[in-house]
Amino acid sequence: MINVVKHQPPPASLAIEKLKLNGTYRTEDVGLQIQKDFYNKCYICEDSDITSINTEHFVPHKGDINLKFDWDNLFFVCGHCNNTKLAKAVYDNMLNCTNPAHEVTNWIRYSTIEDDGFAKIKVVVEEVVARDGVTPTVTLLNDVYNGEHTINKKMESGNLRKRLHRELAAFYDLVFKFYLDANLSAAEKLVVRNQIAGHLQKPSAFSAFKIWAIRSKEKYFIDFGASIP
Ligand SMILES: [Zn+2]
Repeated sequence: MINVVKHQPPPASLAIEKLKLNGTYRTEDVGLQIQKDFYNKCYICEDSDITSINTEHFVPHKGDINLKFDWDNLFFVCGHCNNTKLAKAVYDNMLNCTNPAHEVTNWIRYSTIEDDGFAKIKVVVEEVVARDGVTPTVTLLNDVYNGEHTINKKMESGNLRKRLHRELAAFYDLVFKFYLDANLSAAEKLVVRNQIAGHLQKPSAFSAFKIWAIRSKEKYFIDFGASIP
């Protein structure tokens, strides 16, 4: 999870639709702006270029017209995460990634461990600080990445971990190249350095995992810590 900034003012259609009897928040300007603000990534799992885009009400509107059309309450989410979260009480009061006071990347540690041999991974999500909102967020992230409560959720989280694994493999490939490839010229090494730095930026898929990978080793942090946004 990463912090994002919602564009202001809200897309114009929201105020117009709010006045209609059967108005909708699923308008073109809302959809395009929310996709841009969230870097085209699900705000919960950080998967990118998702094919099942949902617009979620961060605080369930339960028929409340103000919450339903509140721009600050609309989040970009994938179908798997939206369906996992729904309006379950166990996730109430989770951290809000659009609130700059909630350091969603720093307060939670994201890593992976091998599972059943090298080709499979499990995700480890841990609390770094004891603050309001961290525990329900960690619970949701664990359910999203490792959830097995139904066979479909088990398959979906398995597919999500596969995409995460591929993305992290590409990232570590660059890291190993940077440190271990003695044949790289200075110019080539600079290109690889910039590619690693690019993986740490907000538009990159699963960037919280990559940031914590850099933090996990002092040497990595000395060389790339300054590239963490
Ligand atoms: Zn997701």
